[in-house]
Amino acid sequence: GEALAVSARVAPLGSRLVLLLVEDLTEARRIEAVRRDFVANVSHELKTPVGALSLLSEAVMDASDDPEAVTRFAGRMQIEATRLTNLVQELIDLSRVQNDDPLEDSEPVRVEELVAEAIDRSRQTASAKQITMAAGAAADLRIWGNRGKLAAALGNLVENAVNYSPARTRVGISARRVSAPGGDLIEIAVTDQGIGISEKDRERIFERFYRVDPARSRATGGTGLGLAIVKHVAASHGGEVTVWSSEGQGSTFTLRLPEAGAAKERATSGQDRV
Ligand code: ADP
Repeated sequence: GEALAVSARVAPLGSRLVLLLVEDLTEARRIEAVRRDFVANVSHELKTPVGALSLLSEAVMDASDDPEAVTRFAGRMQIEATRLTNLVQELIDLSRVQNDDPLEDSEPVRVEELVAEAIDRSRQTASAKQITMAAGAAADLRIWGNRGKLAAALGNLVENAVNYSPARTRVGISARRVSAPGGDLIEIAVTDQGIGISEKDRERIFERFYRVDPARSRATGGTGLGLAIVKHVAASHGGEVTVWSSEGQGSTFTLRLPEAGAAKERATSGQDRV
């Protein structure tokens, strides 16, 4: 309808321009639909813990003469409050990685530090499940980027590896330098022996709020935003994140990011920015 009307109006200007305009309209509509979906998803995700908190607080009041029940309800309130905090924090992280200037506060970031921090963040969950985390990184690898965002990205990948793996398995983190046409890259791989991801789901897991199994994700405090954040961080650094997986056997998520020296050379030679 609308698109056709536009193309009829501008037809004399040439078919290239018509095509561009029609594509532009379609793209604008797609972006608007994605935005609407996002707002609807956020509202839903916020309402769930808030609703639970409200019910639980009523239950606490009703159970005021039963201290054991009060303790039980209070415990569940704590879980819902944590979920809410996680969600708000991840929404803030997502909006930061989407909106900030990716070059802001960039510096050479040591991979060893990022790996140690990511392992630290998942240590508690891993030890509760007797999951071994093993890191093998070549010495002195450095990425050119924003320390906080890179830490958030790798932290999310390691957290997922631990969350979506059964007890007594192994999570491996390895890093190496690989050469690429535009300059050296640092490749960090996070490998688990977990539940794996089907081919159909692999296409969608980087979307905001997409979860393979919402119940399982919620049980581990998941928000469905983690991989969307990872993807944005990788892209805004001029890198990428890819996934390999075999259902029932495990997954490997690989981050490829600009090596600090290579990024500097590129910047000073006036070529594409990183
Ligand atoms: P969540 O907060 O649910 O973990 P993510 O965006 O981090 O959200 O991940 C999206 C979905 O991808 C998860 O809900 C899970 O189903 C799947 N997933 C992510 N990492 C792994 C993994 N290492 N193994 C198996 N499934 C995974």
